[in-house]
Amino acid sequence: MSFSNLLNEVTYRDQRPSPANTNTTTHTDTRSQISRARSYASTAATSVSISGDISSQLHGGYSHPLARAWQAERQLTKSMLIYPLFITDNPDEEEAIPSLPGQKRWGVNKLIPLLQPLIAKGLKSVILFGVPLDPNAKDALGTAADDPKGPVIAAIRILRKAFPRLFISADVCLCEYTSHGHCGILHDDGTLNNQLSVDRISDVAMAYAEAGAHCVAPSDMNDGRIRAIKLKLIEGGLAHRVVLMSYAAKFSGCLYGPFRDAAGSQPSFGDRRCYQLPPGGRGLARRAIHRDIGEGADIIMVKPATQFLDIISDAKEIGKDLPIAAYHVSGEYAMIHAAAKAGVFDLKTMAFEATEGILRAGASIVVSYFTPEFLDWLET
Ligand SMILES: [Zn+2]
Repeated sequence: MSFSNLLNEVTYRDQRPSPANTNTTTHTDTRSQISRARSYASTAATSVSISGDISSQLHGGYSHPLARAWQAERQLTKSMLIYPLFITDNPDEEEAIPSLPGQKRWGVNKLIPLLQPLIAKGLKSVILFGVPLDPNAKDALGTAADDPKGPVIAAIRILRKAFPRLFISADVCLCEYTSHGHCGILHDDGTLNNQLSVDRISDVAMAYAEAGAHCVAPSDMNDGRIRAIKLKLIEGGLAHRVVLMSYAAKFSGCLYGPFRDAAGSQPSFGDRRCYQLPPGGRGLARRAIHRDIGEGADIIMVKPATQFLDIISDAKEIGKDLPIAAYHVSGEYAMIHAAAKAGVFDLKTMAFEATEGILRAGASIVVSYFTPEFLDWLET
C-alpha cells in the first residue's frame, strides 16, 4: 500500500461519524493525519498496533554480541569447569586413550608439566580418577583405593604442593580397584552389600580428604554413603574444609564406554543397573537428590549431562540453595569428536552449544574433557 493510499484511508476512517470526531478538518488536523499515517505505515508491516502489544519486537535486544551474551542466565566461565584426570600407578605413564580423543592416562610424575600451562591459562579445578594398571592391584574389597602410595593419594599430595590454588576433587568409588569391577563390596550372590560398601567407601573418602583433597565426590551410588561420609568428615575434624559432592543422579547407560576403557573399570559380570538409575527414572532421580541433600551433600551432580537436562533442571529446582554440577561424560565428548570428524558440525561450536545447554538447564559446574580447549576458547 502506497503512502498516499494510506493517508487517504486514514482520512476516510477519521471522517466516519464518531463522537470524538465531530469538527471540520483544519490545517492542524491534516498534519496529525499525516503523522498517524506514518505510524500506521511503520506498524502495519509487522501487524502490530501502536497502542497494543509490541512483544514481537525482540531483535533489538540481541543484535550486539554482548547483548546476546546477556541473554544467558549463566555465562560459561573458566571457574565453572572441572577437568577429569586419569592417574595410573605407573609414575611415568603418558598413554593416549583411543576412545577419548586428546585424553591420556597420566603417571604422577607427568602431572606438573601437564597442568602448569593449563593453570597459567586459568584452569581452576581437576577431578582425579585412579587407574591401577598393576594386575595384582585389584581385589574383592578394592584395597588399593586408599593405598597411601596409590595414584590418587600421591597425586593429591603432589598437586597440593605444586599448585596451592588448584581446587582438587577426588572421585570416590571402588570399581577401578575391585577384581569384579563393581562399585562396592558384594554378597556371595553378586549383589551389593550395602552396609560393607558404605563403610568402605566412606573410609576411602576420608583417606582422600586427609591427603588434602578439597572435595570428595562419591560416584558409587550405594544408599546412605553421603551420610556416612559426612559423619566421618565431622568426626575426623575435616567437615569444615572439605566439599562433599554427590553423584546423586547418576544414570546407567552406554555413554560411559570410553571412560571404562580409560579407567579399566568394566564389570567382570553383570552391569550396574541395580544401583545406577534407570534412564527413564526421573522421579527416582528426584528422590535421590532430595535424599542426598538431606544427608549432607554440598553439591549435587547429574551424570550424564546432555541427555538428562530435565534432571539438571529438577536438581536446580530441588536444590535451589546449593550448586549443581553436571558431568559431560566420556561418551558425550567422544560423540562430539566423532561427528565433528565426520563433518557433521564444527567441534568448537558444538562444544559450546552442549555446555551452554547444560548451564541453561541449571548447572553452574561442568566436569568436562573439553576444559583445556575452553581455556583457550574463552580467551577470544
Ligand atoms: Zn564405580
